[in-house]
Amino acid sequence: MTPKKTVLPKKAKPAAKKPVAKSAVKPEKKSVAKAAPAPLVSENELLMQSLRGMRDILPDEQPYWERVRRSLSTAAQDYGFQRIDTPTVEYLHLFVRSIKEGTDIIDKEIYSFQTRGGDRVALRPEFTAGIGRAYIQHGMSVLPKPIRLFSMGPVFRYDRPQEGRYRELWQGDFEVFGEADPILDAQVMQVAYRVVRELGLKDVEFQVNSIGTPESRKRYEKALVRFLESQKHKLCQVCRERLTTNPMRILDCKEDKCVQLTSQVPQALDFLDDESRAHFKSLLEYLDELELPYSINPRLVRGLDYYTRTVFEIWSTDREGKKYALGGGGRYDNLIQELGGEPTPAIGFGLGLDRVVLEMKRTQVRPYEFPKPRVFLAQLGDLAKKKSLRLFSELEKHGILTTESFGRGSLKAQMRVAGRLGVEVTIILGQKEALDGTAIVKDMVSGTQETVTQERLVDAVKKILKTNVTLAHPPVKSEK
Ligand code: AMP
Repeated sequence: MTPKKTVLPKKAKPAAKKPVAKSAVKPEKKSVAKAAPAPLVSENELLMQSLRGMRDILPDEQPYWERVRRSLSTAAQDYGFQRIDTPTVEYLHLFVRSIKEGTDIIDKEIYSFQTRGGDRVALRPEFTAGIGRAYIQHGMSVLPKPIRLFSMGPVFRYDRPQEGRYRELWQGDFEVFGEADPILDAQVMQVAYRVVRELGLKDVEFQVNSIGTPESRKRYEKALVRFLESQKHKLCQVCRERLTTNPMRILDCKEDKCVQLTSQVPQALDFLDDESRAHFKSLLEYLDELELPYSINPRLVRGLDYYTRTVFEIWSTDREGKKYALGGGGRYDNLIQELGGEPTPAIGFGLGLDRVVLEMKRTQVRPYEFPKPRVFLAQLGDLAKKKSLRLFSELEKHGILTTESFGRGSLKAQMRVAGRLGVEVTIILGQKEALDGTAIVKDMVSGTQETVTQERLVDAVKKILKTNVTLAHPPVKSEK
């Protein structure tokens, strides 16, 4: 056995210097991505475990994920969202500029590092910033509006891991660019609702709020600070600091004493400018029209800095009344311009897929059922083994889901596998059949069998399976 070595936290090598635009890289503040000291672990142990807060989604769990992926894709298609995939890694500066310092994501949770080339980069902590960047970079503003984009994939946050909170988490993301009308806010919420309902989650409800424009927000923040300054001693230590850095964040502090105090603070809705108030009123009317369940939560501010006007979250409630946030989003009418693009109103939301899967399991929603193979292809002898590879692909091209046990030589062993799988048809290709271009087709239900030419094999199998052939996917059309 290899002797166990102890791995000490490595000192980062100074990376090669590369000239970078001044604005692109800020001197890193201690608060950004402060690395925790690496624990002492044996090198061999490292080989066998994933990182803390990151996990494998094993085949067992995939039926739930498949159902989620399918629901997201069909909802995206039905509502006219086009798929976009952006890199998992972007310049750190993109996230700092859009999400802003003073937020948990940037101050505590972002995974940032310097590349060998000297670039300061970060694993995406959410989708909006990257999709916004892509929107500008690829000149999408010239496309007919609104532009609806959809994505799905992992995002990364250096959070304290626990059930339902991971460092690598999956999100489904929907963004709409180029439309300021609140009807789009309602439609985006409708998509979120459609997805979670289709996934079988019943006790779901939106929380909505409006945080207005940056100007009305400033007025609100002033009033909030004035109120909280007088009661500062009742706040937790972190929130006392937030009073100067990011007072709105105090509203979603989970500490009991802060929760108590913030229930009495002035409400953002009372400070809205006329347009934002009208926007919010229309949104609520649309939500009523759609009969979406919602409640107004005047304390909802969301942790990201780029939101304007509408902010919302979608929550699930269990039998004991415990609530789980499944996703959230809002309007970000200034972000694209702030990132250097043309003024572009936009709205979007991200759905936390890990939480959705947990909820599906908790409420015993049926997972997706992958189609089961109904045909087994058995082979005997070297030539038959070789030919069966081609036959398998022939069946697969016709959408007939087939399975095999190519590694086994004995026909008896293969038939045992076929029996265990409960297939309806077994195709047997022996030395003789391989030589004369035929195959034996056995109906496993009636026990009858016939020899057919390999050209007729697909038809013979389909005949036994009747019309309801299990299609793994639509048959591949050969290109002419
Ligand atoms: P947020 O934009 O931070 O509200 O995130 C949107 C959704 O992603 C949340 O409602 C959660 O469902 C999910 N989410 C956020 N952070 C985590 C995490 N650390 N682990 C798992 N899911 C998360």
